[in-house]
Amino acid sequence: LTFPINPQRFLADLHTLRGFGASGVGKGVVRQAYSSADVASRAWLVDQFVAAGLEPAVDPMGNVFGLAGSRSLLIGSHSDTQPEGGWLDGALGVIAGLEIARAAMEVGGPPISAVSFQDEEGRFGAIAGSAVFAGLLTQDEADLLVDADGVSLAEARQAMSHMVTRPVAPDRFNGFLEMHIEQGATLDTAGQKIGVVTDIVGLRQIEVRLTGQQNHAGTTMMHLRKDAFQALMAINAALVDRFRNVVTPNTVWTIGRVQLRPNAPSVVPGEAVFTVQWRDAEERRLDRMQTIINEPGVEIAAALDVKARMGSAEVLTPVPMTPAFQSALAEAAAKHASGLWRRMPSGALHDASNLAPVLPVGMLFVPSIGGISHAFAEDTAEADINLGLQVLAEAAEQLAPR
Ligand SMILES: [Zn+2]
Repeated sequence: LTFPINPQRFLADLHTLRGFGASGVGKGVVRQAYSSADVASRAWLVDQFVAAGLEPAVDPMGNVFGLAGSRSLLIGSHSDTQPEGGWLDGALGVIAGLEIARAAMEVGGPPISAVSFQDEEGRFGAIAGSAVFAGLLTQDEADLLVDADGVSLAEARQAMSHMVTRPVAPDRFNGFLEMHIEQGATLDTAGQKIGVVTDIVGLRQIEVRLTGQQNHAGTTMMHLRKDAFQALMAINAALVDRFRNVVTPNTVWTIGRVQLRPNAPSVVPGEAVFTVQWRDAEERRLDRMQTIINEPGVEIAAALDVKARMGSAEVLTPVPMTPAFQSALAEAAAKHASGLWRRMPSGALHDASNLAPVLPVGMLFVPSIGGISHAFAEDTAEADINLGLQVLAEAAEQLAPR
């Protein structure tokens, strides 16, 4: 490295950031977008950027940047949390961006900037801050988003209005790097330290409505029933069976929401409405799974004399990471974590998904202990965090403009 990073300073800053909204339970943090803890933490971050010699910029959405003077590589993530969150999640990537940009600035380059995007966790809309930055959502559209308490984003962002300087355009950067905890147990279970992200997986979701005949559970003979729940169970069993030859170990699918009508012990269910959601990095596999879901649904419903209505699919397309950025991360991982790293897809959405249409992007994962995240118990060994920082810095040195 031509710019020596400082792991002690990096960890100290990470712990200071944890202090904004510290829950008192373990290392837990409560720091939702635009909350007083979030606004205070963003003001602190601005101070750190200034102290590092970076030019601070806060856009109207509340994304906070520390800018190098010239065209630069952008590194960061988000520092807002879930209503009950962990201390690392996006904060890890934000402070990694701060440390690497600062260390580079101290020796006169390469030009590296840092960012904390706003509302990644979806108080108003998932990955909303980076969507506005990337131009996928206008500020006016974002302002109409409403949180669970009925507060609009337009109102909420007033809490940061005194900090806003100006919008920042993506074209002043040559790419985006994001470090994040893996939020699963893939690395932790394998005893590995670094994950180089290949793709952020795509997602499909449909709602299925099964309509049978609601009836008395005591007097309706079994062979005369049109039981919507039995049809749902048969469809689930058929999916387990038919997916077997299509999925990979990285494919996931979930029946996550089920509503039975009338949902009473003494009534044969007349209606079952449920969601099927499936995720994978390959569009073709997502397509095949969709065909499979439609088939048994219709067949089984017919066999049980129940009507099936399939809703239209919600679609999020898979987002591949830029090959040159993957290579730089892989090279650095091979150097510092030989035999202890892998390429892997991300099953969760990240800010990098939004930046991919406008900038080359790359992502690096560090292990989550026990695979736990979005919870106070979320943690990663400090040695693993520091290794991640080292790998990220090496890749950044390669990828930053000269
Ligand atoms: Zn996150």
